[in-house]
Amino acid sequence: MKKLVILGSTGSIGTQTLDIVRQGFPAEICGLCANRNEKLMEEQIREFHPKVVCMADEKAAASLRTRVSDLSVTVLSGEQGIAEMLSVCGANLAVAAMVGISGLLPVITAIGLGMDIALANKETLVAAGDLVMAFAKEQGVKILPVDSEHSAIFQCLLGGHTIKKILLTASGGPFFGRSKEELSLVRAQDALKHPNWDMGQKVTIDSSTLMNKGLEVIEACHLFGVSPDKIEVLVHRQSIIHSMVEFEDNSVIAQLGAPDMRTPISFALSYPERTKFSGDSLNFFDIAALTFDKPDMQAFPCLALAIRAKKEGGAMTAVLNGANESAVAAFLKGECGFLDIPRIVENAMENFTNMQNPTLQDILEADQWAKEFSAKKRI
Ligand code: MG
Repeated sequence: MKKLVILGSTGSIGTQTLDIVRQGFPAEICGLCANRNEKLMEEQIREFHPKVVCMADEKAAASLRTRVSDLSVTVLSGEQGIAEMLSVCGANLAVAAMVGISGLLPVITAIGLGMDIALANKETLVAAGDLVMAFAKEQGVKILPVDSEHSAIFQCLLGGHTIKKILLTASGGPFFGRSKEELSLVRAQDALKHPNWDMGQKVTIDSSTLMNKGLEVIEACHLFGVSPDKIEVLVHRQSIIHSMVEFEDNSVIAQLGAPDMRTPISFALSYPERTKFSGDSLNFFDIAALTFDKPDMQAFPCLALAIRAKKEGGAMTAVLNGANESAVAAFLKGECGFLDIPRIVENAMENFTNMQNPTLQDILEADQWAKEFSAKKRI
């Protein structure tokens, strides 16, 4: 039986992971961690009985302690609490589903404790992929992709052959086909309506700017050991093919399925086995066509910025990520426009003095610098 700890249990991936367990996936929930949704955390504690949980927010933790005072669960809090929860919970698989760079240190702690990682938090690899992958190798732990595209690529590679090219599919987001002028008028509530996938706010905005695909290119480089030149992004509006791999003999293997995040989560949990799952099967007679378009790099410059950051290497991807997190948070609050997001990111990248082979401390400082710089330049 898998012993799970879920980092980000009240978010989109966290709740869907618990849904898979609810449907009968054999797992013990050893620990849960969330930011500040203490009400949902209370429900999860009562249903899944973890022995230890952590709320990143101190106030939420205090309120949760009162709510569950009739139970024997330990409620920890803050960054230190996350590390303590990981070290005492006894899990062997950590589902990393926190939002943004905040997932980085918990993932490193979990790897240090010898846990395999079901990785949904792509920002961890974007900011510190070289360090995280090297540390995982050293500790002998697996990094199992949860991101649907990377799960698809991972599945296509189970035969173990040399990659000629990765064909990374993108839904194109809610604004596919719009011009720059039309995009200048977009608001957060428009961007939060994703056509195919049900996801958290940050990733939904990232999907609408195509930054999500840019972050995924970087993530794929680290997970599968390829350079960005070996990755081609295809806009595939139906989100049926979740990505493909072309091999040296020009043969292409694709992974297909209904767009339901529970499928890639379930594969990461059950790997190397597959388990029964009650979601929808794909009905090929209902699919009129599978279409493919080139991404519009002019209207959506974030994709090109991410590829540029990966090619520049060093701490530049941490700056890309930090500036993007800052810009997306501002856009969600209505403090900047849609087209300001790539402008803010590019501005930070151009003003950063890059360094190669950064340490973890260098990466955290680059992230902080990018956030402070972006906040100053926005006003
Ligand atoms: Mg994805």
